[in-house]
Amino acid sequence: MTMIQTQISAVRSRIDAACQSAGRASAAVTLLAVSKTFGIDAVTAAYAAGQTAFGENYIQEGVQKIAALRHLPIEWHCIGPIQSNKTRLVAEHFDWVQTVDRLKIAQRLSEQRPLGLAPLQVCIQVNVDGGVSKSGVAPQEVLALARAVSALPHLRLRGLMSIPEPAPTFIASCALFKGVAAVFDQLNREGIGLDTLSLGMSADLEAAISSGSTMVRVGSAIFGAR
Ligand SMILES: *Cc1c(COP(=O)(O)O)cnc(C)c1O
Repeated sequence: MTMIQTQISAVRSRIDAACQSAGRASAAVTLLAVSKTFGIDAVTAAYAAGQTAFGENYIQEGVQKIAALRHLPIEWHCIGPIQSNKTRLVAEHFDWVQTVDRLKIAQRLSEQRPLGLAPLQVCIQVNVDGGVSKSGVAPQEVLALARAVSALPHLRLRGLMSIPEPAPTFIASCALFKGVAAVFDQLNREGIGLDTLSLGMSADLEAAISSGSTMVRVGSAIFGAR
């Protein structure tokens, strides 16, 4: 086994253990491998270990990998900040975008999604910390944005994503993640129909799964330090 294969099975074991302690089925949590800064060989090695969903932060870098690996049935997620002038690249190449934080970006993505492709799968990024430097929508603004995004023809709103600041303890991490989970539950009560709660990274995936995450985005625990 390659190092990447070994690390992927270790991460999958962590996910299984966290699901078990939370009384959830392992199949309820998807592993997104975050391959930013790593090359095509690393993605191919992870794919050989059965990993099919990959996340990229830097749009140009992601588009290059997507083009080079077009022959593999990989699901590509854009998980980095999106400027207006990059929406076309995202709409044309990615399957998912998890970082929608304003309507203007969502409208451009919908307009620019090529008609021959499936709708772009979208998560709204939520800012639960209130930190000014962080992107994401304030929790009280998520419902209105979700309604507007749901009405766009070439997007499919799937859920919420958040990147809280690293918290000092498991309990503190859970408190932040549960804040996002509460917004997710509220939107579903309002009839928005979400199935994806993208929370947790290498360091805090256990707290995220314990708080209801359905997708963990894991980079360094699979590919090594960046
Ligand atoms: C880099 C990144 C990750 C992965 O972080 P690790 O700590 O390496 O697991 C997850 N989500 C986002 C949005 C990232 O930018």
